[in-house]
Amino acid sequence: MAIATEREYGLFINGELTEPQSGEIRELTEPATGEPLARVSLAGEGDIDRAVEAARDAVEGAWGKTPPNERSRLLHALADAMVANRKELAELEARNVGKAISSVKAELNQAVENFRFYGSAIASIRGETRPIGGSLLYYSLKEPLGIVGQIVPWNYPLMMATWKLAPALAAGCTVVLKPDPATPLTALRLAQLASQAGIPEGVINIVPGDGPTAGAYLVGHPGVDAIAFTGSTQTGAEIMRLCAEPLKRVTLELGGKSPNLIFADANLADAIPSSVWSIFYSAGQSCEARSRVLVEQPLYDEVVSQFAAKAAELKVGDPLDPETQMGSLISANHRERVHGFVEKGREEGAEVVTGGEPPDGKGAFYPPTVLAGVDNEMTVAQEEIFGPVVTVIPFEDEKDAIRIANETKYGLFATIWTGDPARGHRIAARIKAGEVGINMPYTAFPGIPFGGYKQSGFGRELGLETLDLYLETKSVLVSTGAKPYNPFGL
Ligand code: NAD
Repeated sequence: MAIATEREYGLFINGELTEPQSGEIRELTEPATGEPLARVSLAGEGDIDRAVEAARDAVEGAWGKTPPNERSRLLHALADAMVANRKELAELEARNVGKAISSVKAELNQAVENFRFYGSAIASIRGETRPIGGSLLYYSLKEPLGIVGQIVPWNYPLMMATWKLAPALAAGCTVVLKPDPATPLTALRLAQLASQAGIPEGVINIVPGDGPTAGAYLVGHPGVDAIAFTGSTQTGAEIMRLCAEPLKRVTLELGGKSPNLIFADANLADAIPSSVWSIFYSAGQSCEARSRVLVEQPLYDEVVSQFAAKAAELKVGDPLDPETQMGSLISANHRERVHGFVEKGREEGAEVVTGGEPPDGKGAFYPPTVLAGVDNEMTVAQEEIFGPVVTVIPFEDEKDAIRIANETKYGLFATIWTGDPARGHRIAARIKAGEVGINMPYTAFPGIPFGGYKQSGFGRELGLETLDLYLETKSVLVSTGAKPYNPFGL
């Protein structure tokens, strides 16, 4: 049965919203108000089987026969459809995640550009030829990998879905995407828009569901050729285990504890507000949140005081108010976890300079929190808190700064604030992270590879090389003479 009322969301399988056959219906509430938001269908195993079958039919049928220029046109058409529906998408995401609508609008702009980038990048998919010798002709073919299972988290539901879908579709694959069960609404709406834009049925299938059941079933499904995952390092390890026996190709975009280095020669008028943004954007629920601020010793007290003042000024509240800078956290449970880290920080000797206490009221709000007097070995400096909590750590000199920056199991991003350009480049080369910003806080640009070192995962998104995650290379050798060329005397 098709589901189409404003508050009811079915699974998106084979081009339409449908009721789950083997899953369940769950009531979602708005994190910022606690009010009912939607009734969503969650996929069971039979639903995932149906989605994989639809994806198989599409890759072997209509989508497999769609030429690259037409795939490109369709990705651009989907970008146009997102622009035409941006108000609805932004409000839906803000209400579902509790995130400030000003942030969501920026994410939506990026999500649109992502489809445009990969729509154009299709032109770059090509094989090669090279001389081998004698009568041998060699060329390679780039072929879509097939059916990809994609799993995304709750912190940027729409943007993460586009990071995954756009390169996979550009490469000619079909997708079964599992959003987090708490935040499936915009991915489902996106799939409907894709269908209206002309993307054939079965190319995009959306199956919200719980991780350890639906997610694990999707990962292990014999009909799924590869897995692309974004989420926590712990779940990433579990997914790698599930992919080991069937030797399934997997890419992992995982957690972070990214450093933000402020040197004494930095321009604080830029560095402070940008560093405040770098942690409190999305209420700190960001993989690349710069949650460790490393400050050169002479400036430490000054930076802590300016940082705390700016953090306390942030407008926290109704996600739908355009003036709001920080909305609520994703849930009351997550807020408890975040607060538990702050309590742990207190126990370990950190000083709470601002924030640190959950407010009364219904929404899952938590104030911007600054912890000073932090040693890099403390739990709050090593574990991903994934909330609006920053740790400020002093360093002695450049060598000390690099040491502290790298003393973490993660390696996703780093920012350096300095008035000395040579120092910026020198440190960028020595930081163990997938991306480094010098005097610049922003992280994600379509066209620029994004991903982790160490336990932040492997594989790169957003770049041209991302297409390779979804392509196979086939080498073809042809003898053009009477006798095949045999240079090694085999
Ligand atoms: P999570 O690992 O708990 O869940 C992520 C997704 O995996 C969800 O859809 C969940 O349902 C699913 N899942 C959970 N257990 C599973 C299992 N056993 N098998 C299959 N699927 C399973 O992560 P989260 O708390 O939702 O998201 C926050 C994490 O995501 C943070 O660590 C954050 O840093 C990371 N993240 C990374 C990036 C990046 O690009 N590197 C981007 C955004 C978020």
